[in-house]
Amino acid sequence: MVNQARVLEEFVRLVKIDSLTGEERQIADYLKRKLTELGLTVWEDTAAERLGTETGNLIARLPGNIDIPTIFWGAHMDTVPGRGIEPVVRGEAVYSSGETILGADDKAGIAAILEAIQILKEEKINHGPIEVLLTVGEEEGLRGAKALDLNLLLAQFGFVLDSNGEIGSLVVQGPCQNLVEATIAGRAAHAGINPQDGINAIQVAAKAISAMRLGRIDDATTANIGVIQGGEARNIVPDKVYLKGETRSLKRERLEEETRQMQFCLENTAREMGATVKVEIELLYPEFCLSENEVVVQIAQDAVQRLGRQPSMDKSGGGSDANILNARGLRTINLGIAMRKVHTSEEHIFLRDLNLLPLFLVEISQAAVSVLGKV
Ligand code: ZN
Ligand code: CA
Repeated sequence: MVNQARVLEEFVRLVKIDSLTGEERQIADYLKRKLTELGLTVWEDTAAERLGTETGNLIARLPGNIDIPTIFWGAHMDTVPGRGIEPVVRGEAVYSSGETILGADDKAGIAAILEAIQILKEEKINHGPIEVLLTVGEEEGLRGAKALDLNLLLAQFGFVLDSNGEIGSLVVQGPCQNLVEATIAGRAAHAGINPQDGINAIQVAAKAISAMRLGRIDDATTANIGVIQGGEARNIVPDKVYLKGETRSLKRERLEEETRQMQFCLENTAREMGATVKVEIELLYPEFCLSENEVVVQIAQDAVQRLGRQPSMDKSGGGSDANILNARGLRTINLGIAMRKVHTSEEHIFLRDLNLLPLFLVEISQAAVSVLGKV
């Protein structure tokens, strides 16, 4: 049985520890202590050195008493900006005081993992070996997962608790994303005396952007220009504009086509207008796609059914640690944890979901025994 008071207390404690991306030292120390108290062996990897930050990823191991392959449960320790968070229970949900995010993303996931471990112990439930993976730097480019020392993990597949879907939503497919940055160089001139000598970089940007396919392009693919910066003064023909955008797709070749299309619009327009443009493209994360016959999917589906729900195989529109872990060879599903309105001051989570989530993890441990025991 879930100890409802304990889950809420743990969730509130975690939320009250500020842990903005890059500032995860305090929460990592707390979780190291907590996991050690619960009987797990805890390691911190050397990602901090590689990232030049103060904290590495945590990997903790809970031995099992059934001899099946190891699974992992993952969550991230960092949050988007928000300090001094004051969680309040209002009606049937936990909110922030309204000034900040709540940080259920992803502390609801961490609280569930801690509670599930305690349930396994208290009720002496048989289970296989379980690893807990707590990453840093998720909210800024999935950097912790990218720098994770895989040698510390025995598990080859597992579950990240970091999707805003309902409990029972299994994110088995995620898009890849390209960052697209462009710097357009025109020529400055006085707007009233000799504008004919100038090349207006803002106009180049405007023409290029209006030629682009943006927004939802097809079922699998989106594109956006999200930042435009440039210009010095009303009376100067602007010589420099900076643009920042992205493309996302569930399919790599579509990502590349749409990225090339944006690049072409920029380069072609710049050429026509006598400007130059430097376009920089970076793959922020690769796509992933799991199929129904993979054990990790079977375990998740079985666990959802044990909760009395219907599993839903979903795709996400964004990146999570699951994108990186899958690309690095760990078959990973991102689980819906029913956090709502994340990254806003209206973020909240219902108490019933906070209480159901640890049970879901316990059911995953039991589904693993049933599915992997047969392999
Ligand atoms: Zn998250
Ligand atoms: Ca997030």
